[in-house]
Amino acid sequence: MDYSYAKATEHSCPHCHQTTTADIWLIVDQAARPELVQKIINGELNSLMCPNCGQSIGEIDRPLLVYRPSEQPPLLFSPARKTAIAEDQAHNVQALVKRLLDEIGNEDDDWVMEGLKRVHRSQLAAMLSSDSKFES
Ligand SMILES: [Zn+2]
Repeated sequence: MDYSYAKATEHSCPHCHQTTTADIWLIVDQAARPELVQKIINGELNSLMCPNCGQSIGEIDRPLLVYRPSEQPPLLFSPARKTAIAEDQAHNVQALVKRLLDEIGNEDDDWVMEGLKRVHRSQLAAMLSSDSKFES
């Protein structure tokens, strides 16, 4: 099973001002999608190219939940970088965790809230790359 979740999000290109829609990752399932974890480590996740003019739009700033079923803690929550988006944090983290639990079919969310660790985005890559199975 892959519990990763991407949401179609509109954004406008700073170069050609065309508005386009792209899937932005909000939940990454480490076991199912190691290539997405690698993108987080490389700083490439949710970094977009404009399909209209081909120039870089940059990183779309969103909170990110990483699900790691075989690690402790099993969940890492990385808030959005910008404060304007971060004001929604409490809502964001609960909504994302609830979505994940609904998908897993686990009604007991105690383990999740106990196992949820908040990680600043700048530390997320280091935490993920230190996981043993991604040493290569
Ligand atoms: Zn463009």
